[in-house]
Amino acid sequence: MKEEIFKTIFEFNPDPIIVFNAIGEIVLINQQGKILFGYKEAELKGKRIDFLMPAELVPIQSAMRFNYVQMPDHRTMGRDFEILAKDKEGRKFHVEIALSPLPNHNDGLFIASIRDISVREETHRNLENRNSKLQQRIKEIENNTFLASHELQEPIRTIKSLSNLLEDNQINKLDAQSKTCLRFLNESSHRMNLLVKGLLDYNRTGINPVANEIEIPKVLDEVKEDLNFLVEETGANIISDRLPQIYGFETEIRALLQNLISNSIKFRKKETSPRIRISANKETHHWHFTIKDNGIGIPDRYQDKIFEMFYRLHPRSQYDGCGIGLAKCKKVVELHNGRIWVDSLEGHGSTFHFTISKN
Ligand code: ADP
Repeated sequence: MKEEIFKTIFEFNPDPIIVFNAIGEIVLINQQGKILFGYKEAELKGKRIDFLMPAELVPIQSAMRFNYVQMPDHRTMGRDFEILAKDKEGRKFHVEIALSPLPNHNDGLFIASIRDISVREETHRNLENRNSKLQQRIKEIENNTFLASHELQEPIRTIKSLSNLLEDNQINKLDAQSKTCLRFLNESSHRMNLLVKGLLDYNRTGINPVANEIEIPKVLDEVKEDLNFLVEETGANIISDRLPQIYGFETEIRALLQNLISNSIKFRKKETSPRIRISANKETHHWHFTIKDNGIGIPDRYQDKIFEMFYRLHPRSQYDGCGIGLAKCKKVVELHNGRIWVDSLEGHGSTFHFTISKN
């Protein structure tokens, strides 16, 4: 009875199974094995397992089998290198083979459980193909944006200098409406200039980055130095816990900290001095940084959106900016195989989190 059950399990196992002996002769093959290779049992009995391989690979694959029977163990072949099989019709396909010796068989019998992975491989190859085309397309778009931003600088400069000229020489001859137009023209060209500079800066982020050990406390001191004027003006208090040394791209990390800290100061509550705390935690595969402020906070529904390019929550009259800062932060973090997100309660401050891979 028990033997019957074992026979049935072998015969109807969903994976093809072949039992072979020390010289590679097929001793048994189950139902799925026969289906996979397209042979009847009688056609395979006594044949070498080489019979199921493409002729050109027989020498190398049978050398592998020979080595295996000398020192048999449980192992899977075909993961780190390709193994090809061939069916009765001559179709060649990739397989993964789990091998193990049959215990209590001193004359050496071995089980090979075979998986046809050609569909998986094909899907993988297609994905890789599509991915590389996508990367190429992204590069092209980045390149075009870079060129467009670069080209736009010149006409913007011209508009700016012409409107300055008009303002310096003709202002007294202009009526009130023309003066308002001139002011708008000045403001718009200033904004365009900021946008184009921001776009260029975004595009340059991560181009030929140089990876180094980075002392975060030192970088933070430099950032505070750069923001000194803003800190003094707003009475901001920036404190930090013990911060680590990490491996990454220093210029980009400095820009990331600078963007997040200056946002924490910029989006402060009226009549409250900004308080900002920077911390870092070591986790298994990455560093987890947080930058916590006591500012105006961000409503729940916008917390993902703010990392998109040009996304802003306030009119320019309230808070200056062009909505590129956090998109750049995201780019920097992703360059370090990390992610960035925010926890916030409107009116009660925000905590920006980002991770940086330890490798
Ligand atoms: P910008 O600062 O130029 O507007 P960012 O990309 O840096 O652009 O930020 C996008 C938007 O996210 C901001 O306009 C603001 O509404 C929101 N934001 C960013 N940082 C904070 C913060 N610390 N507190 C509150 N809101 C913030």
